Amino acid sequence: MSQSATRNPRLDGLQCLRCGRVYPLTLIHSPCSTCLQEGVHVGMRAHYATAVAGGANAIPMPYLDGFTLGEGQTPLADSPELARRMRLHRLSFKDETRNPTGSHKDRMSAMGVNQALDFGVHTLVLASSGNAAISAARYAQAAGLRCEVATYSGISQVYAQALDEFGAQQYSFDDNTGRWNFVADQANKPGYLALTNFQLPALGSTPLAVEGYKPIAQECLEQGGLPDHVMVPTARGDLAWGIYAGFQALLQAQQIDRLPRIWVVEPFARLSHAQTEQDLGLSYPGQTDQFSVAGATITYLQWQATRNTQGGTIVVDDKAAYAARRLLGQSAELCAAAALGAVEPLQRSGQISAHDHVVVMLTASASRDPTWPGY
Ligand SMILES: [Zn+2]
Repeated sequence: MSQSATRNPRLDGLQCLRCGRVYPLTLIHSPCSTCLQEGVHVGMRAHYATAVAGGANAIPMPYLDGFTLGEGQTPLADSPELARRMRLHRLSFKDETRNPTGSHKDRMSAMGVNQALDFGVHTLVLASSGNAAISAARYAQAAGLRCEVATYSGISQVYAQALDEFGAQQYSFDDNTGRWNFVADQANKPGYLALTNFQLPALGSTPLAVEGYKPIAQECLEQGGLPDHVMVPTARGDLAWGIYAGFQALLQAQQIDRLPRIWVVEPFARLSHAQTEQDLGLSYPGQTDQFSVAGATITYLQWQATRNTQGGTIVVDDKAAYAARRLLGQSAELCAAAALGAVEPLQRSGQISAHDHVVVMLTASASRDPTWPGY
């Protein structure tokens, strides 16, 4: 296991997702000051110098041959029986439960750890009461880094115990504002890297870590061909954007000739309410059992991922999510089942046709989900 990170020599800055302005590579994730003047809160993505001909992989990554616990390369499993019942040409599940700590978050944690090692950081700090916290704690521990987690006061015992086991320091807060203020304070101290969002309005997780999701596009292409639709359970859109950015890179490299449509699946209307880019900075509170995608904030990440792929946003409430989990018939966190539940309404509205290939992101199993029977 490597304890050092090899930075991609092409990585040369951070770039505004919206206007394309390039900023220096820094640890703190700040909004684009140019776009802010127009009232739009936009975060950054990694910027790479143009590839030399015949050069590196189609999907550039911030770190090469760095720290890993074997995340990624998860299976893509077809479900012909469900496809038949749902009158779909093809239905596949990208099984992110097979990552080291059981969720897609490991892809992000790996890149976050590499950035921490690269910048000489000693502590990862994040706000999460769920899979992101478990993943970051496990990865930090394995890399010899500290991990501080701002959690909700009502964090489930399963998560609290796992965080203890992985040596993470937990700080409990009653609300998001408290959690994010804590992370923001820590992020401004030397030696800290904030992995997840800590700003209001939200920007999303730290850009180099979000890059960790891009290889999902390549894996989908290699394992099952180019899908027509990708269903993504979403809170602030890190995963949806990473998948979009991966396919975008494949398109630029002419490895594919179109983008799959990215569908952001949310438990109550948030992004669905946003009509303008300025609306992304508003708060959209709601209650849900889908705890991995709870919260009131949205980001430019998910706006871009849906707009640029002719996808969109679809609300699958808890009742529909429970029904989808019964249909799925396997262990899945409730929001992952909701992603399956988004297929039928999109068929009804004519967005998904009987000839299409749909990929559902199975983000995590139900093993730590309080809504799972027998939990
Ligand atoms: Zn900008």
